Amino acid sequence: MSFQALLTRETENGYETALEERELTDLGEEGVLVRVHWSSLNYKDALSATGNKGVTRQFPHTPGIDAVGVVEETTDGPFSVGDTVICTGYDLGMNTDGGYGQYIRVPAEWLVPLPEGLAPRDAMVLGTAGLTAALCVESLLDTGLNPDQGPVLVTGATGGVGSISVAILAKLGFSVSAVSGKSESHQWLKSLGASEVLSRDSFLENAGSKPLLKEQWAGAVDCVGGDMLTTALKSLKYGGCAACCGLAASPKLEMTVLPFILRGVNLLGVDSVELPCEIKQQMWQLLADEWMPADLSLLEADEVELDGVNAWVEKILQGGVQGRVVVRLP
Ligand code: NDP
Repeated sequence: MSFQALLTRETENGYETALEERELTDLGEEGVLVRVHWSSLNYKDALSATGNKGVTRQFPHTPGIDAVGVVEETTDGPFSVGDTVICTGYDLGMNTDGGYGQYIRVPAEWLVPLPEGLAPRDAMVLGTAGLTAALCVESLLDTGLNPDQGPVLVTGATGGVGSISVAILAKLGFSVSAVSGKSESHQWLKSLGASEVLSRDSFLENAGSKPLLKEQWAGAVDCVGGDMLTTALKSLKYGGCAACCGLAASPKLEMTVLPFILRGVNLLGVDSVELPCEIKQQMWQLLADEWMPADLSLLEADEVELDGVNAWVEKILQGGVQGRVVVRLP
């Protein structure tokens, strides 16, 4: 049986991604067969679709690290035909054909049941970005952080992880200071719940100058790495903590140990890809219930069909997307 999928191929001119007919047998025979209805666009999908070998080693390949759909075939594991499931992370969309195809075939351990009350499409408005935002917030709360301790900083605030982090933190009663490179998005960030919005340039003004900066934030969610993360760490209040999940600006972290040893600040690593499915399931439950952003429609940049994904790929690589792009499968 054939199905439609985006396929990224290596060509003489680099990498090209186009809609193609694929065969179910291309997906192998092991694991659970899921008919995908919705996917989404993440920074990592854009890397895969443009041939980044750190994400995808072998081409041709169908990107898409997120998928929600219905089980059509299963031989073992807890799922039955007809169950609606979410798949994010692990190897999906990296070297396992991903959510930009009408079908995926994955191990049962990669699947989470769609929480009650969460619409499949809404699960993809959130997607890996939402899961990662939830993990970042959870890691801060685990240190005992509470709204009385002061404002929480969010960098890369208009991106997927950043914007959902802003919305969740605001919903939990935190005062959120959002940093963004997009001057036109300041009002939008306030509508998501940010108390103040700082321009990226002003935030980075003193970036490299001193090993410690004025204490300002009780916590931080950093999606970008590099100077933004070092500046956040240098300006955390005594005992503050920063959740680090991304590298949209840089994978580097160049600083002294002084914030750690003089102010007792903590750097918390966050990974949404390989962590056990039970924890993913707990996070999805929170996202479906008390952490559900107040207005999910605000987070949506666009809904596209498969042939509309390419138009957003370069934009997300340039850091130019505000919120989330949802992908509708035919
Ligand atoms: P997006 O592209 O949606 O958001 C990234 C945002 O970072 C941009 O919108 C922009 O926001 C900001 N940004 C981009 N380039 C720069 C730059 N050069 N300097 C400073 N800020 C910049 O990506 P996602 O939200 O999907 O992902 C964010 C990061 O988190 C990525 O690096 C991604 O790979 C990583 N990630 C990690 C996961 C994990 O499990 N650890 C899971 C998901 C994502 P603004 O214009 O508002 O400043």
